[in-house]
Amino acid sequence: MSSKGKLILYTGASGVGKGTIMKQLLKKDPGLRLSVSATTREPRPGEVDGREYFFVTKDKFKKMIEDGGFLEYAEYCGNFYGTPQKAVEEMLSQGLNVILEIEVQGGVQVMKKCPDCTSIFIMPPSMETLESRLRGRNTEPEDVIAERLETAKNEVTYAKMYQHTVVNDDLDKAVEEVLDIIHSK
Ligand code: 5GP
Repeated sequence: MSSKGKLILYTGASGVGKGTIMKQLLKKDPGLRLSVSATTREPRPGEVDGREYFFVTKDKFKKMIEDGGFLEYAEYCGNFYGTPQKAVEEMLSQGLNVILEIEVQGGVQVMKKCPDCTSIFIMPPSMETLESRLRGRNTEPEDVIAERLETAKNEVTYAKMYQHTVVNDDLDKAVEEVLDIIHSK
């Protein structure tokens, strides 16, 4: 992918606080854009179609795969998630830095397709903190939390494939660290 802007791969286990960090990054960095993914998961309360995600049916998602519309896609806890390629390319060609907030399987695909990307993995201070954050969010039923926790244990093993790891034990510090990485040469 030829581009003027930087492609940033941003991954972390479910519940690690990467969404909270992301909100701050977007507020503080006017040259940064978040790629809006497509997903087959149901919207959570407060989520808006086209803002957090493009919420699509499984059939529509399959059609998007067939049309070659995804830079990467993966199945995560029973739902599909994918990065629409064209939107990312357009923003990069405008000189914007584009951040992909995606899980590990998609992350591996992006590293292969775009070896020049900057990769950042957000780590929890501990697995206990991660569990209490997942439960505290109160948005998912117990079986979903249990599944996400199991997935998270596997996810953190991918951290070593990323160029940078940032431990989220202090929000402001983590935000600054990620901004420094994005703006480093
Ligand atoms: P959630 O359901 O909590 O919004 O997202 C579940 C996981 O899917 C998170 O780790 C999130 O980063 C990841 N995700 C969101 N969009 C994409 C995408 O386009 N591709 C991939 N591979 N993962 C995604």
